[in-house]
Amino acid sequence: MASRLRFKVVDDAFKKRPVEVTVPKERPSDYFAKYVFDRKKMFKYLPADVYKKMCDVIDNGAHFDLTIADAVADGMKRWAMELGVTHYTHWFQPLTEGTAEKHDGFVEHDQKGGMVEQFEGKLLVQQEPDASSFPNGGIRSTFEARGYTAWDPTSPVFVIGDTLMIPTVFISYTGEALDYKVPLKKSLNAVDKAATAVCQYFYPDVKKVVSNLGWEQEYFLVDESLYSARPDLVMTGRTLMGHDSAKNQQMDDHYFGSIPERVENFMRDIEIQALELGIPCKTRHNEVAPNQFELAPIFEEMNLAIDHNMLMMSIMKRVARKHGFRCLLHEKPFKGVNGSGKHNNWSLSTDTGILLHAPGKTPLDNLRFVTFIVETLKAVYDHNGLLTAAIISATNAHRLGANEAPPAIISSFLGRTVSDLLDHVEQMDESESLTVEGKSTLNLDIPSIPHLLIDNTDRNRTSPFAFTGNRFEFRAVGSQANSASAMLALNSAVAEALINFKERVDRLIAEGVNKESAIIKILKEDIKYTKPIRFDGNGYSDEWKAEAQRRGLDCETSCPLIIDNYLDEATVRMFEKVNVMTRNELAARNEIKWETYTKKIQIEARIFGDLCMNHIIPVVTKYQSVLIDNVHKLNEIFPADKAAKISANNLSIIEQISEHESFIVENVNKLIDTRRQVNRIESEREKAIAYHDRVAPFLESIRYHVDKLEQIVDDELWPLPKYRELLFII
Ligand code: ADP
Ligand code: MG
Repeated sequence: MASRLRFKVVDDAFKKRPVEVTVPKERPSDYFAKYVFDRKKMFKYLPADVYKKMCDVIDNGAHFDLTIADAVADGMKRWAMELGVTHYTHWFQPLTEGTAEKHDGFVEHDQKGGMVEQFEGKLLVQQEPDASSFPNGGIRSTFEARGYTAWDPTSPVFVIGDTLMIPTVFISYTGEALDYKVPLKKSLNAVDKAATAVCQYFYPDVKKVVSNLGWEQEYFLVDESLYSARPDLVMTGRTLMGHDSAKNQQMDDHYFGSIPERVENFMRDIEIQALELGIPCKTRHNEVAPNQFELAPIFEEMNLAIDHNMLMMSIMKRVARKHGFRCLLHEKPFKGVNGSGKHNNWSLSTDTGILLHAPGKTPLDNLRFVTFIVETLKAVYDHNGLLTAAIISATNAHRLGANEAPPAIISSFLGRTVSDLLDHVEQMDESESLTVEGKSTLNLDIPSIPHLLIDNTDRNRTSPFAFTGNRFEFRAVGSQANSASAMLALNSAVAEALINFKERVDRLIAEGVNKESAIIKILKEDIKYTKPIRFDGNGYSDEWKAEAQRRGLDCETSCPLIIDNYLDEATVRMFEKVNVMTRNELAARNEIKWETYTKKIQIEARIFGDLCMNHIIPVVTKYQSVLIDNVHKLNEIFPADKAAKISANNLSIIEQISEHESFIVENVNKLIDTRRQVNRIESEREKAIAYHDRVAPFLESIRYHVDKLEQIVDDELWPLPKYRELLFII
């Protein structure tokens, strides 16, 4: 019987004890990057000239010279074999959002009847996986199955278990990107070129600008026994039904609370593994919702940071199982409590410092600061619809707009100090130079507590794109997303804004205006122009939605329609201008996005119908029969008027059950019918729109009735673990 399963499962969950974790004897700084073929290992395992060339490739973007491939591969193989490695794989990020790998052994015939371990340069540099089953949006039809993976030397290879993992890009036979890494790397290059050129107005020696990313990964942990008794969690990553538990997050007692021991051991375990793989984990804490947590490493160069995030997500999922948990990366696993995001802290830096670092030293420094703030705003304003498209997905849509996350309307919070500074520049005379006050201290007047240095920014948790002192924090990114999607859009847009800025400044200089005045003049224009994107108020309020509409910001809420932004003329022009993606690639990617959207809702609808008809309705009917039986028996032993009085309550429940039940059955049938009709639509875009408009609403309307039944039906009979169990047993 179903109920037995539920109680057994809860019982099993309660019995779990923390799993011991072996903590290395050395310090973290000693075992950091133990399994990474980093510079130290390259120095040891590669010939000196090869090492030098590799450094040039990594540091200066020099072209990888194929003649050194064999030597590099050989060094890697020797290092890896000392760690007991027997296999290697190209590791890539196809458009499925996860990562992909196919392992091959080092072994080859030795031509003497035996085997020998071999790893040649050509295997390191390029592979041809049978790629026909990865999404390609029609770029490559299935009979042309060829796609190439090519080594990305700027992201170091690493070892997991017995396998040497080689980060690679994934491209089609005709050269189009089939992954996230190719356009990401192109966008890094675009922003480097554009920002370096602008930087040289201020610091003529700057040769390179690097994009940085510090991600903060939110996640839920659920006991594995409970998880496995929820087919919806198993199949879709979220609960499609379930009534609020009496207590959820209203007490605010989970955020930054003390971490349960079982969870702490899990965290320790993933952190050790991450550090060994060179991921600089630093912060861990409880999040707002029960059983919700966060992990954040120190920021890194963006390409590496994204590889590390992809790797981290797979480590988290794998290690969770060892501890008897499942790690939920879905953006909204539970209705009524906070969802999970992945804040993307973004900044640009040169080898001398961060370009968004608060001003102070010289007027030119201040001007540099204002330039990069304003041109970032311009990028975000010009492409606010695209940035929404870059973070939206069937799953993240559940989180955005709900009361705990930034809505899917992009705006930027600057805080008072920076806003005042921009206002000041806007009013400036072009011949003035820009001096601003630096940090101020806050005298707390508490004995023995040092004065606090106040950051020049206040905080606004409701803004999707907030300036936080020396970086922008893009908060709308989904917890399970590949951050490359958001970051490559942002980088490309910023590159475009900077190119455009420089063109205008140079034109003025050519007309004889001095450099500083020219910069101030253009900044004044752009400060005025970008005002609609600046918003420091409450981003969750309904007033803001109306105000954003008035300001002309993109307020679309339908995921399939938001995706249209990728094919907007201004978007295509921008991506082509900065040489990141072509119209053809954008169109192909959109096909994949729409198809993925449809499939996600389709799976949800299927499993939901199944749960309703095979789990909920039978149990509810059984309970109703018990009540009916009871009413009959009361009638047998009591006179009619007394029996009627005593059974009034049961009769009412019997009736309520019938009402909910008939709504559910009728609408599940309608849902199935609608799906059948919609599946016949040929166009991926139209199909996705139909799934959004016609199929998805059933999930919400039917759920309401299931959740009502959960409150009526005997707890003993209810077949699914409830929210109070999923969210509070750990
Ligand atoms: P909060 O929760 O207050 O937003 P966290 O400490 O959890 O802050 O995470 C902040 C993230 O931002 C970390 O990954 C940190 O390394 C990163 N970060 C700090 N400075 C920068 C910067 N200049 N550029 C990019 N990321 C940064
Ligand atoms: Mg944050």
